Amino acid sequence: MTLPADLPVVDHHCHLSPGGEGVEAARRFYREGGSHLFLTTHNWNHSPLRSVEDYRAQFESIEKLARRIEGETPVRTSLVVAPYPVDLVAASDALGLSKAVEIQMQTLDLAGTWVREHRAVALGEVGWPHFPVPEDQRLAARQIFRHALEVAHEVGCPAVVHCEDLMAEGYRALSDQARAAGLSPERVVKHYALTYVPGPERSGITPSFLARKEGVAAALDDDGPWFLETDFLDDPRRPGAVLDLATVPRRAAAIARDHPDRVDRLRIPFVESVRKLYGFTPERRAEGSE
Ligand SMILES: [Zn+2]
Repeated sequence: MTLPADLPVVDHHCHLSPGGEGVEAARRFYREGGSHLFLTTHNWNHSPLRSVEDYRAQFESIEKLARRIEGETPVRTSLVVAPYPVDLVAASDALGLSKAVEIQMQTLDLAGTWVREHRAVALGEVGWPHFPVPEDQRLAARQIFRHALEVAHEVGCPAVVHCEDLMAEGYRALSDQARAAGLSPERVVKHYALTYVPGPERSGITPSFLARKEGVAAALDDDGPWFLETDFLDDPRRPGAVLDLATVPRRAAAIARDHPDRVDRLRIPFVESVRKLYGFTPERRAEGSE
């Protein structure tokens, strides 16, 4: 069995860079059966961003790339923007912690404006470094994350969270933080979820599972919401650091081939969860609409 022609195939979290494979990667994703990319901005320059204007330029570059993808391929894109939480570490070394915090806070406000203007669909990645950092940076990251949750609440969009892998307790703590900032946990996505934690233990948070074979197999029994992602980095300096952009469509095709009775389960990550979190229904663009 092949995938149903009307089934969108969605990578919920990936990165493309202007100096990387870019549009070609999206074309490859499409050839494998992919239809929708949630494109998340990131720092592809490997040097600290020194101002809100630097971030604005970053957002605009990714928006330009998304427009090219939409113009030159049948793939549809949704933008997710924020100052990458790990940027705080290099920025505070370069500029001092308080300046680094100020830039992240103001960039979150900018990201909120982009959502309001429908240039982006969510705030992400927001969260905190997934490795130990000095105490003052750790506390600052918490404060910035709280602001991120507040902005997401204000503009009415999901927050896509970068942090260490979570178990039930971690999901509960994240859910409490969201609520304390006024944001419903139903609007929070834990990106790069590695460990499968059953729905009732996720405290209302939506996991975006890394599309490894085992991860997908566990998730298929789950009634959702949940997503699949590669976290593709499009970084020639870190080849193979994460999954390739072809992975989600390939996994979907493998399910159609090996477990045709389960194909319908793919509507959970590719249709129902997108509708629930983002409020739109992904639809495939007709062949030849390049
Ligand atoms: Zn990422």
